[in-house]
Amino acid sequence: MSVTETVRNADLIVIDGRVLTMDTAQPSAEAVAIKDGLIAAVGDTATVEAWRGPDTRVIDARGGSVVPGFIEAHMHLFSGAAELAHLQLAGVHGFEALRDAVQAYARSRPDMGMLVAQGADYTILGSERVTRHHLDVILPDRPFLMAAPDHHTMWANTKALEAAGILHGRVLGAGNEIVMGADGLAEGELRENEAFNPVLKLAGEGRVRLGLSTGGEPDPMPSTEERAGDRAIMRRGLDWCARHGITSIQNMDGNYYQLELLSEVEAEGDLICRVKVPFHYKNFMTLDMLDKASDMAERYDSEWLSSSMVKLFYDGVLDSWTAVMIEPYADRLDWVGEPLFSPEEFKRIAVEIDRRGLQIAVHSIGDGAVRAVLDGYEAARDANGTRDSRHRVEHIELTTATDIPRFVGLGVIASMQPPHPPGGMSFPLEPTVSRIGRTRWPYAYPTRTLIEAGAHVVFASDWPVAPIDPILGMQAAMLRKPWADDMPDQSVTLQQALAGYTVEGAYAEFMEDKKGQLKTGFFGDLVVLSADIEATPLEALHEVRPVTTICGGKVTYQAR
Ligand SMILES: [Zn+2]
Repeated sequence: MSVTETVRNADLIVIDGRVLTMDTAQPSAEAVAIKDGLIAAVGDTATVEAWRGPDTRVIDARGGSVVPGFIEAHMHLFSGAAELAHLQLAGVHGFEALRDAVQAYARSRPDMGMLVAQGADYTILGSERVTRHHLDVILPDRPFLMAAPDHHTMWANTKALEAAGILHGRVLGAGNEIVMGADGLAEGELRENEAFNPVLKLAGEGRVRLGLSTGGEPDPMPSTEERAGDRAIMRRGLDWCARHGITSIQNMDGNYYQLELLSEVEAEGDLICRVKVPFHYKNFMTLDMLDKASDMAERYDSEWLSSSMVKLFYDGVLDSWTAVMIEPYADRLDWVGEPLFSPEEFKRIAVEIDRRGLQIAVHSIGDGAVRAVLDGYEAARDANGTRDSRHRVEHIELTTATDIPRFVGLGVIASMQPPHPPGGMSFPLEPTVSRIGRTRWPYAYPTRTLIEAGAHVVFASDWPVAPIDPILGMQAAMLRKPWADDMPDQSVTLQQALAGYTVEGAYAEFMEDKKGQLKTGFFGDLVVLSADIEATPLEALHEVRPVTTICGGKVTYQAR
């Protein structure tokens, strides 16, 4: 007996929980034991108590739910973490409220060169479009930049436009625009990366956004001090994730620099979430530059830090008419948007990435973008043969009846963001729903339609586009209301919502045998919640909080 006891001395046991394992063979349990970073036992109290040894740490879940660690399938760690220090404008509406918020923030940061705000709704001034003149009234003598929640549009005041040298406009690549006024000067609205990057650079945030804006590396290389500062930003982001019950991150922007910073953080013992960082392919690159993606995949291939994915943008967003549609926008009848790659170009790229055995993830918002990307995946399959590729389409805000079954046929993962549908958790109904137009509503943000069609659907926040909190995301997915009575119900069940943040996320990483479920031999990644989520009314779900987050058998967050 003493022999078994020493062997069974678990590092940690969680007892008195309502354990939702996501393992179909044993969906519920009372307790979990973890040893050497892996789950040693899941079952009733007696089974798990047998693992309690003299050195075992005991965590009492007090009847709260215990679920697999959340897997965030689409987010931006580096920029999200940096932005925790920005002025947050979510929920701010009207000129006075905006003025008060910006002026207070400016007063509190007298030495900051460029002031940056985020989370400004496209309708922050009601039906009036924001221009530099509004912002000049609020802050005439210091440069100020304000980002829409989707980070596809930003607005700058005159000081900022002047400092960045774009007040008189600039020639940009397709899909990017400095909106010009009748006076021949920039109006202040900057659409997409190439338009606002010159301003963001002045905010000293060039490095945090490189993985998103160019996919390139810092030049010049940061000093030792800057590098340490960047590691501190990464740590802040990882802490923010752990606090929200997240144990795995599928980052959606990347470069060597981010991977290097994270591996330095890992060497210091502080990598508290598992992170996947893609290579970001942009439309000004050539196919040979994918060597870097293959090299990233080879160099970083551990259970904590990995790559092996290429992220691209095919289009922009609905709110700035940069998403690519099959039929014209309902409020702009001569316009279908402009893709960042031609369909033929995208096919060539998809074939090449697929040939290298890497996974592809493409931002595709409009139904035209979704179709072109699926066409690219089909071309890759035709050229390279069928393989377990698990390519992904990110966002899918619009699609069509014809393209829905192609997700299943091509084995493509649908990456959906429950906080995003207008009129839900994070964004107002307008202007988006009018822009889409009623005829396209039945296949707008078609979460349930895709699940019921049999597609793999992963959930994510796209933080910092929306709050990172997976519990809020689950609630939004379950509370989803149709925009009209005759539209299909796209809400999901608790089980489906949880699957989107756990098992499906694991599948998207080819890690379904290691994580996403609480099962013997799987990674010791779990979250203890403050209440039983099955017994909590849906309207109150957001009150349920992570109490303890455990990743690889280590406590990475503890409330109180
Ligand atoms: Zn994103």
